[in-house]
Amino acid sequence: MNYRIAVIAGDGIGPEVTSQAVKVMKRTGEKFGHDFEFTYAYAGGCAIDKKGECLPEETLEICRRSDAVLLGAVGGPKWDDLPGPKRPEKALLGLRKDLGLYANLRPAVMFEELAGDCPLKPEIVKGGIDLMVVRELTGGIYFGERGTKETEMGPAAYDVEQYSEGEVRRIAETAFGMAMKRGKKVTSVDKANVLDSSRLWRRVTEGVAKEYPEVETNYMYVDNAAMQMVRDPKQFDVLLTSNMFGDILSDEASQVTGSIGMLPSASLGEGSFGMYEPVHGSAPDIAGRDLANPMATILSAAMMMRYTFGLKEEADAVESAVEKVLAAGCRTADIAGEGMKIYGTEETGNMIAEAI
Ligand code: NAD
Repeated sequence: MNYRIAVIAGDGIGPEVTSQAVKVMKRTGEKFGHDFEFTYAYAGGCAIDKKGECLPEETLEICRRSDAVLLGAVGGPKWDDLPGPKRPEKALLGLRKDLGLYANLRPAVMFEELAGDCPLKPEIVKGGIDLMVVRELTGGIYFGERGTKETEMGPAAYDVEQYSEGEVRRIAETAFGMAMKRGKKVTSVDKANVLDSSRLWRRVTEGVAKEYPEVETNYMYVDNAAMQMVRDPKQFDVLLTSNMFGDILSDEASQVTGSIGMLPSASLGEGSFGMYEPVHGSAPDIAGRDLANPMATILSAAMMMRYTFGLKEEADAVESAVEKVLAAGCRTADIAGEGMKIYGTEETGNMIAEAI
């Protein structure tokens, strides 16, 4: 099969980590008989320097013509003094909006080899953690009506949490579809004991759940979910959340894995199209020094294979190659324990490609 991928390497460590992910994808393609075709495009600070704007139309065109986007990271001190709308990070919002990406997927996987970096007690995480936060990305309180009004107690500011049935249905469908490809369990997070918007969220989710009889569904108030995440994270498979609850819970969940250099993510819209990127930023402090951990970006490429291309075996191969090299002692500086040998970005990418 032939798959078209737009690569936005971006700034800082972006080019270093995306080139390792491309290398691993090429190796996977050779091994499994696929043709991954890469087209490179500018966004972020490098696009400002080369094209005069952070998200040139030709970049959007390349993304629209592709099956998926692999993004490194954007931004850096060079562009920090630009006014808000002109900053490199604006490219991310533009990409999400133009490509209709309303679902954010953040897996939190604890690799056995890195269990020592987990802040939870060993008995809580024994056997590993593997959960996925499916967060609504373009609605809710971050995009609702807002303003300030006079009250007896002085000026009051407000932000409205609003969700339509359609918005909830489509993100719920993403979560249930995801659960079907994973552990067949969805926990829908809300605050339905207090909020009308959460009651609608729960009612719509219950309707979608009926269409997925194989999936075990439960409902949890957000305060309890935050507590359960540190008490017993192994109970979760897919967590379905609104924009704000997901913002908070996905950061909490990611902490169990140790380093930011290990965390992949995906943003999906209608159909199978998606944008895949590491959770970390452009890390200007280590850029260009062969120090960056490429695993988050390589694991993002594995997510692309699994969720956009439906290539389960290939995605499994990439993920187990990462596990294998960790087991063999390969560590970049961010995840190296005391006294361990430190591997560079390039060498780590080579080892993972060879382990496919
Ligand atoms: P950051 O994630 O870039 O870096 C935070 C810390 O983690 C740094 O010490 C860095 O060296 C380390 N780190 C990050 N990724 C790593 C990796 N792969 N391997 C090893 N260490 C790694 O966050 P920041 O410093 O707050 O932001 C730097 C720039 O990145 C800013 O301009 C910010 O706006 C931008 N940013 C971009 C994105 C994105 O493109 N999606 C996300 C977050 C931040």
